[in-house]
Amino acid sequence: MATFGSLSDRLTQALANLRNKGRLSPADVDSTVREIRRALLEADVNLDVVKQFTGRIRERALEASASQALNPAQQVVQIVNEELVGILGGQQRRLEFAKRPPTVIMLAGLQGAGKTTLAGKLARWLVKEGHRPLLVAADLQRPNAVTQLQVVGEQAGAAVFAPEPGNGVGNPVRVAKDSMRFATDKQYDVVVIDTAGRLGVDADMMKQAADIRKATDPDEVLFVIDAMIGQDAVTTARAFQDGVDFTGVVLTKLDGDARGGAALSVASVTGRPILFASTGERLEDFEPFYPDRMASRILD
Ligand code: GDP
Repeated sequence: MATFGSLSDRLTQALANLRNKGRLSPADVDSTVREIRRALLEADVNLDVVKQFTGRIRERALEASASQALNPAQQVVQIVNEELVGILGGQQRRLEFAKRPPTVIMLAGLQGAGKTTLAGKLARWLVKEGHRPLLVAADLQRPNAVTQLQVVGEQAGAAVFAPEPGNGVGNPVRVAKDSMRFATDKQYDVVVIDTAGRLGVDADMMKQAADIRKATDPDEVLFVIDAMIGQDAVTTARAFQDGVDFTGVVLTKLDGDARGGAALSVASVTGRPILFASTGERLEDFEPFYPDRMASRILD
């Protein structure tokens, strides 16, 4: 994945330097940990996360070196892999479906994060999994958002609930609420609510998202974050956690070239799991997120 290309190269290089060592000295451990630290910081991984991560690796690698284990390089690779899985959230967390349909999934995040695109991706994926999703156009901020949702809905083979002229126009909370009744009446089993973002964190946007959350009582609130926004990812995530709170994270634009390390920090900083990853503009560029697979890809 391009986003983690240079992080991946640097980590692999740091670990490759250990390969020919029969034993590891504490100095070897220290220099490897220093390289890992530099690689993570250069990739924009959050400083607190880097400190915890490298602290644990150092401790465990020193233990491995003291035990004079065979093949210390392999042991350290294993340790780094396990710790990387840890900061990415540990076990895979699947989407939670309600016991009684419809399952309500609300999307939240800044403008441009990829929410509307994600609504289409989720719809396509849900249809494939045998569900009958309804997409709800509660982003009434961006002039094109309703049409854009209708386009992706059609591509995905999913219905779209949008405000009728004169009925709920300009009132996204009302639209979201009305969609609940519509979904129950028409027996849609999953409702995906697209909400408005702003270019930066904004009190009105946050209140609107919180109001939609209150009105629809979602089973999942997915915070959508552009992996390319760098260090802002962590502050934005914290602001959304305080303002709306969310049950899971979706990383978008993992196909980009930017240093995506900040996005890697979001699960660790917020304590919320990453559920999905978006890797392109097409609806099929989307997959459930597996922390262990991502860690292996990074260390590949
Ligand atoms: P929203 O404002 O949060 O609803 O964001 P949009 O869904 O409109 O997406 C903003 C832009 O990012 C659009 O041009 C999308 O095509 C693009 N986009 C969304 N997801 C991805 C992704 O995973 N990779 C890339 N390269 N572009 C994406």
